Amino acid sequence: MESIWCKTCDIKRYPELEGNVKTDVVVIGAGMAGILTAWQLEQAGVHTVVLEADTIGAGQTQNTTAKITSQHGMFCHSFIEKKGKETAEKYVQANQAAVEEYKRIMKEQEIACDLSERDAYVYSGEEEKLRQEAEAAQSLGIDASLERQIEVPVSCAGVVRFPGQAQFHPLKFLGALAEKLKIYEHTPATEVNENLVKTPRGSVKADKIVFATHFPFINFPGLYFARMHQERSYVIALENAGKISGMYIGDGENSLSFRQYENYLLLGGAAHRTGENRTGGRYEKLKEAAGKLFPQSSVAACWSAQDCITADKIPFIGPYAADRPNWFVATGFQKWGMSSSMVSAMLLRDQICEIRNPFEEVFAPSRFSMEEIPQLMKDGGKAVKGLTKRFFHLPSETVNALEPGHGAVVETPLGKAGVYKSEKGEVFQVDVVCPHMGCELSWNPDERSWDCPCHGSRFDCEGNPMEGPAQEGIPYE
Ligand SMILES: Cc1cc2nc3c(=O)[nH]c(=O)nc-3n(C[C@H](O)[C@H](O)[C@H](O)COP(=O)(O)OP(=O)(O)OC[C@H]3O[C@@H](n4cnc5c(N)ncnc54)[C@H](O)[C@@H]3O)c2cc1C
Repeated sequence: MESIWCKTCDIKRYPELEGNVKTDVVVIGAGMAGILTAWQLEQAGVHTVVLEADTIGAGQTQNTTAKITSQHGMFCHSFIEKKGKETAEKYVQANQAAVEEYKRIMKEQEIACDLSERDAYVYSGEEEKLRQEAEAAQSLGIDASLERQIEVPVSCAGVVRFPGQAQFHPLKFLGALAEKLKIYEHTPATEVNENLVKTPRGSVKADKIVFATHFPFINFPGLYFARMHQERSYVIALENAGKISGMYIGDGENSLSFRQYENYLLLGGAAHRTGENRTGGRYEKLKEAAGKLFPQSSVAACWSAQDCITADKIPFIGPYAADRPNWFVATGFQKWGMSSSMVSAMLLRDQICEIRNPFEEVFAPSRFSMEEIPQLMKDGGKAVKGLTKRFFHLPSETVNALEPGHGAVVETPLGKAGVYKSEKGEVFQVDVVCPHMGCELSWNPDERSWDCPCHGSRFDCEGNPMEGPAQEGIPYE
């Protein structure tokens, strides 16, 4: 399950932190958000150290589809309705500035990362929606147009086009920027106290701390666990599917995403809330779509990723919490983390350098609006369900009844356990309680992982942590 980016790029490796260091800023997390933030800070003359629990880009960034665009689906019309024109304008401007900043950095630094300027398109079957969206985008200053022709053979009434967007190879880009930064890999931040970040074999003392860990792992203060959930989507890379020049995304829940990378057409979709994929079959769903749309094609690679979704669909970028003035956060990118990571980097650089940034109110984590309440209640309800399930719901499976290649929560003599039986019949048994906040994990048959339905942490069949917010594994017997 390796992405096309991992298959086509080797990033230089960096040492683990041993000992204690001091710096102006420490950035925790070396995904797109962390590396870009460190880069912008260094460019502004601020000494920055990056700590990465795994290796550079090994979180969601290595599994993105890497479209750099301010077109975040079919969003302009509804954004204006919910947040007003001024906020919508700023959101679009911040993201469009991010697209241009990518192009500027790549040109100035001569980074070979397969950048190509492309138009972005959102397609829909609803005529009225398309018209409204094109008009709304134009009213926000985008040179958008409503078009009828579409290169991908999906059935739709048309597309809204944003010109001058871009696509690239995310790991080649990260690798090039990383060479100019001070980075420690295999160095998780295990404890953060005011201005001190502890790691297994050292510590970093810094004036400011940036959490760029995808999902913030400190629950209090901030309460990010109560304000976001995670959604997982799947990607297949197709050979012999022909070539497209644009970058496409459909409107609505079952929509598909398309972009070209060299001879591969990347087809994405089959999304679900993390922890809610009991029946599996997500890759099959994409393969079925590929069979219909591109009958000559074959699958060269498959992978998946997840992202954090905020209630109002706007990222949280800015101060972590009112009582931690020196902590900053960048999260909640709702599957548009390439442009949002650059927005984060520019915004956090300005905030740390005490320069007024015109977009800070839009992304301020301290914001709260009434329209968030229904979403918060829905997410809260899911979390409560995930928490109570382990006490009240009796599992129906037993270890013996489990088919090879399957996993399930089963009853054992010692109580509930998560059991996976490999194709060879080996049994892997783990605790099913998420160490983050105690929800019951659920088996994801497509990724063979234990996923948390509350906040999206994931673990492999031996209990090792794969994705946060949980920072530790689950007991494995
Ligand atoms: C299927 C899919 C396709 C997507 N395609 C696009 C796209 O085309 N365009 C777009 O704009 N966006 C896209 N996105 C979204 C985008 O990929 C993500 O938003 C983005 O990669 C997130 O970057 P990040 O730096 O926030 O997180 P990550 O890349 O996950 O980086 C966080 C890092 O923090 C590290 N970390 C965690 N805890 C600690 C700790 N305690 N100490 C040290 N390090 C720690 C992790 O190991 C990780 O490396 C897509 C998302 C999905 C799910």
